[in-house]
Amino acid sequence: MSYQSYADIIIDISHENLDKTYQYAIPKEYSSFAIIGALVVVPFGRGSRKINGYIVGLSNEPKIHIDKIKPIDHVVEGAPVIESHLIYLAHWIKETFGGTMNDALKTVMPVKKAVRIKEKRRIVSDKAYEELNLLYEEQKRKNNLARVRILEALLKNNILDYDEVTKGLNISKPTLTWLEKNDIIRIESKQIYRNPIDKKVTSYKPVTLNDEQKHIVENVLRDYHQGKRYTYLIHGITGSGKTEVYMDIISEVVASGKQVIVLIPEIALTYQTVNRFYSRFGDRISILNSRMSNGERYDQSLRAQNGEIDIMIGPRSALFTPFQNLGLIIVDEEHEGSYKSEQTPKYHAIEVAKIRAKLTGAFVILGSATPSLESYYCARSGEYKLFHLNNRAKEANPPKIWIADLREELKQKNRSIFSRKLKELIEDRLNKGEQIMLFINRRGYAGFVSCRSCGHVMKCSHCDISMTSHIQGKLLCHYCGSNEPMPRTCPTCGSKYIAAFGTGTQKIEEMVRREFPRARVLRMDADTTRNKGGHQKILSAFAKHKADILVGTQMIVKGHDFPLVTLVGIIAADLSLYAGDFRAGERTFQLLSQAAGRAGRDVIPGEVVIQTYNPDHYSITTAANGDYEAFYEQEILYRRLMQYPPVANMLLVLISSKEEDKADKAITYTDDVLKDYIKRQKLSSKIIGPSPAGVAKIKDIYRRVIYIKENNYDELVRLKNYLEGYFNYSGQFAGCSIQFDFNPMNTY
Ligand code: ADP
Ligand code: ZN
Ligand code: ZN
Repeated sequence: MSYQSYADIIIDISHENLDKTYQYAIPKEYSSFAIIGALVVVPFGRGSRKINGYIVGLSNEPKIHIDKIKPIDHVVEGAPVIESHLIYLAHWIKETFGGTMNDALKTVMPVKKAVRIKEKRRIVSDKAYEELNLLYEEQKRKNNLARVRILEALLKNNILDYDEVTKGLNISKPTLTWLEKNDIIRIESKQIYRNPIDKKVTSYKPVTLNDEQKHIVENVLRDYHQGKRYTYLIHGITGSGKTEVYMDIISEVVASGKQVIVLIPEIALTYQTVNRFYSRFGDRISILNSRMSNGERYDQSLRAQNGEIDIMIGPRSALFTPFQNLGLIIVDEEHEGSYKSEQTPKYHAIEVAKIRAKLTGAFVILGSATPSLESYYCARSGEYKLFHLNNRAKEANPPKIWIADLREELKQKNRSIFSRKLKELIEDRLNKGEQIMLFINRRGYAGFVSCRSCGHVMKCSHCDISMTSHIQGKLLCHYCGSNEPMPRTCPTCGSKYIAAFGTGTQKIEEMVRREFPRARVLRMDADTTRNKGGHQKILSAFAKHKADILVGTQMIVKGHDFPLVTLVGIIAADLSLYAGDFRAGERTFQLLSQAAGRAGRDVIPGEVVIQTYNPDHYSITTAANGDYEAFYEQEILYRRLMQYPPVANMLLVLISSKEEDKADKAITYTDDVLKDYIKRQKLSSKIIGPSPAGVAKIKDIYRRVIYIKENNYDELVRLKNYLEGYFNYSGQFAGCSIQFDFNPMNTY
């Protein structure tokens, strides 16, 4: 191995401008220690005072005149390894997913401001986001700067540390009093937040693993003890005992002196889940969640760093828990979209978990009832070790699944949103005093155009993606931008019942009330859960049988057990099927499988009615049969045919600007730059677009996109770096900003 002569160094992480790196020469005696992430002491500034820095890049090319490059003073030996690891991770994230080093460091490093005090005060707002936003806009107009500052902070996090607000944001007492008086905030005092877990004593009841479970535990632990490090994928249906498997493995890893991170999507991080871990591992676990303030999170990070805990459970951000001796990262429900960050850097937690594991000699376990195509693809190719859990751990009857063909309903002159089957079963459950969930898998905007008579959906001939209806009676593909006039009649069957699709939860609630006047109805969607605790209130009311029917979006199908629910109705399975991106089929399969898993989880067997205009679509039929393999086979064919991930890689470039013509000019220019680059590098990458984004304008900001398909991920990263360079130095992008998203999870 040959050593490099120069190191790019970021100066002390509290320094303002992190994106500025400084080049230093590496003295020979430090060659082998000067690795990325290493803590170094360097002479800085005029007086060459000695300060700390971290190496984030190595090269043999001097960037400035050699005479001006100072040598590193020394590489610090025995520096806290964890910091180096996290800095390296930040660097890797920046390189791999785009954005600045500053963004990346903020992602991996816990906020350092918190001061430890015995009694903490915090500022809490129960106002809905929308309302806060209105207040914020109003105060901004009135130029009340202090109020603007705190409202801005509240928009990001509805719980704030008192000291962070008064000192950090420089907010005075009268400002707080005004907010209190107007019921915008309240100030709470509480003991220092040492342990966020509500301790209710439940004793640990050991279970004896069944053979399928034992097989997994034994295999994984054999590898572990032999020093082999793999990534494992456990494909196990809901209730098959994955969590028990995790806990047995965790127990052994912890016993060997290492620590464990368990990622669980926030929505599934319920009291029951935490309690299960707590009853087994006690005070050695901690959790992170988005309801905690920065200070509270920081406390938990410190506990991890100081070795007070062994297991951290939490959503995506828990991945960066500063454990000194990490042994295992578990990603439960690994297919969840929330593992992809929606803010720059748009990293995927699984990718980062694998890198962090590699860095620290840990291993990774992914688990899901409906693995992502990406993960299953890796498992099939042998990159991951694959295990199956095919049976429910406890006796339970699988639900009976009905598919209601809505085209048939129309033929029978049934114009209601409830098929005859669903109606009949709802009446039946109301009579028996059992509970019903009605689920509408609405996601983003639903503007696809379909025929109610034959189910035909208008799709882009280039992208095989459903087109969405747009102003001026046009249909638009949001990948490639091609458009067509909105047809008056169905091109397949000539029916005039062709229209844009769209039904909201509120509308369904209304219909339920009209058709079943005696039923008590609750609705759960983004509107009814915006207030803090709204989510929990609705769920617990439903659990206490204060309602017969719960109407909701996908949030009702995750993780909660309601023994009295014996009927699940999926009102329009097609909504997610044609969401206008290549993952639509996969998401539909996942949602339907999860929804089906809700029915009859206890003794009473359940029934599920899936209403659809496309009863033959493979996402629907395979979900109804609970046949993941069959779904995968079909879906991967489509991805292969169209060169969509995971078969190829895809990069989204989003340009946004306050001025429409600037956005248009910049995206055209981007297109030119990319085409030229691809030609010169003799790549086989394909450019799709440019096109207005799916949401072409948000808050008066115009958005334009280009997608690039390319087989080789590294090639795509280089292409991004090249474009980023152009963006920073060319005058063509004035007044615009640029964002990248690799293998995007959502439409833009
Ligand atoms: P998953 O995580 O796959 O959804 P869980 O681990 O939550 O499954 O298991 C579902 C239920 O079955 C839980 O109540 C769990 O305690 C129970 N269970 C799991 N494994 C066993 C077993 N081997 N014997 C008895 N009960 C089990
Ligand atoms: Zn038709
Ligand atoms: Zn297209």
